[in-house]
Amino acid sequence: MNITIPGARVVDVRTSLPRHKTLRYGRRKLTDIRSAAMHHSATVSGSPEAFARYHVGTNGWPGIAYHFVIQKDGVIYWCNDPEAISYHVGNSNRHALGICLVGDFRTQQPTAAQLESANRLIQYLQAQIPSMTQVFGHQEYPGYSWKNCPAFPMGTFRTNYSQFLQKAVGKVDKPKQVPVAIKLNGALLSATGFLQDGVSMLPVRAVANAAGGKVEWIEQTKDVRVNGRDLTEKVVSGSAYAPARELAAVLALQVEWDGSTNTVGLRGEV
Ligand SMILES: [Zn+2]
Repeated sequence: MNITIPGARVVDVRTSLPRHKTLRYGRRKLTDIRSAAMHHSATVSGSPEAFARYHVGTNGWPGIAYHFVIQKDGVIYWCNDPEAISYHVGNSNRHALGICLVGDFRTQQPTAAQLESANRLIQYLQAQIPSMTQVFGHQEYPGYSWKNCPAFPMGTFRTNYSQFLQKAVGKVDKPKQVPVAIKLNGALLSATGFLQDGVSMLPVRAVANAAGGKVEWIEQTKDVRVNGRDLTEKVVSGSAYAPARELAAVLALQVEWDGSTNTVGLRGEV
């Protein structure tokens, strides 16, 4: 897995950070992740290396606590696989993914670059990990009301994040997308697809379900398969879309295009 986030620099330090000689973090499925947990480093400056040295050397943990660390300049350091059950929110570790912003926000403010990168990172992760529907501050997890972390107001953070998402959808997806209706053996489906660069992209799950195809989500590669075959899908708001011709082929359906009504007609035995 490789992370590419438009507008943000991501540095993969998973294999270079100090880690424990023998101890390793437990593993989970991506679908176990329910929330992103926001932290501050509680140090005016710092680096993933310094935090890892402290967590391993002083605390005796398997590795750095966080999955991602965001520096003041907005650079995102990828520190642990999302599947690692690292130590950052006690009893909630199994279901939380840790994101730490460098700084002590009791006396400092997160930088605009940090907040922008945090928004981009969470948006990216939520598309890859649809079960991660929530964003909480460390302090909001059970048993941590005493802890002043991340020491910035989470209500404001979440409001800014939803505004960021709305803007991102408006900017990136909406202007390019022309809706496409889908008919299966003449009957209109309730789901719609969209046109992208002249290609009709159809919702994989809705079409496969209607046509009796088998849909699988491959965790390791973040791929969708239909009837055991790979698709060049695109994930939009947590749903996978695939080119109509590809999807029709794996479902053994004929496909025709009606450009006057922007409708994809699928035909075959279902
Ligand atoms: Zn914390």
